[in-house]
Amino acid sequence: MAEKVRHILGISGGKDSSALAIFMRDKVQDIEYFFCDTGVELEETYDYLHKLEKYLGKPIVRLSAEKDFDWWLVRNNYFLPSQRMRWCTVNLKLEPLEKFVGKDKAISYVGIRYDEQGRKGYQNPKADITSVFPFVDHKIDKQGVMKILEEAGLGLPEYYKWRSRSGCFFCFFQRRMEWVGLYERHPDLFKRAMAYEKSDPVTGKRFTWIAGESLEELVQPERMAEIKRKHETELERELKSKSNRPLVEVLSSVLDHEDDQLPCQICNL
Ligand code: SF4
Repeated sequence: MAEKVRHILGISGGKDSSALAIFMRDKVQDIEYFFCDTGVELEETYDYLHKLEKYLGKPIVRLSAEKDFDWWLVRNNYFLPSQRMRWCTVNLKLEPLEKFVGKDKAISYVGIRYDEQGRKGYQNPKADITSVFPFVDHKIDKQGVMKILEEAGLGLPEYYKWRSRSGCFFCFFQRRMEWVGLYERHPDLFKRAMAYEKSDPVTGKRFTWIAGESLEELVQPERMAEIKRKHETELERELKSKSNRPLVEVLSSVLDHEDDQLPCQICNL
């Protein structure tokens, strides 16, 4: 008997993986949708997943680590995760995914678009997972993704009004303007993120989400006004050059320009 191959599709709560779930719905039987839930996601992400589940007509399996972020933080000697030390992704997302797949053979459908072919899908040397890229094969770019979401009646997740990526509310990949958005829209979460920042009383070394700037400093009125001014200027420039695009799309493209650090697909596609 031929070995059974599972078909899995990870949804991050972002636009590309959500659009891919819609795109694949009627193409592959028994496709398994999953979401790696770190327990520190935005409410908007959960709301969007509920809407998506209704459209897909089947549940999106929530994969959670046995231990939460705070437990892993202690285990990592209180070192906040960063681009160089991505223990959050490993412990809260990749390990639960490996457990979910186990020893099975699986094909993983990844939402990398035709216009970003340089990015790589998740490859795990331990698991027998083969990544495939339907948007690349079908030449579906950012506009194509937006069309899929609109036609399904979902549109973009609510957080796209102020943040262009899914993931943990304190994700260190956030741009400064997105931190300001978190401060204004979710002050309670911003406070929680602030509480994780520490400084060593002996060495004076600071442990902050953003290199060289604490969240407390970032929301000082003058600093915040400066960040907003810079963002407004970028927004105006982008609106002038792409006047026929919806505001929310222009906003996400401006936020994408504000730095060039692209996070991993498992968190943000
Ligand atoms: S969203 Fe950011 S903080 Fe959360 S697991 Fe991914 S990289 Fe880490």
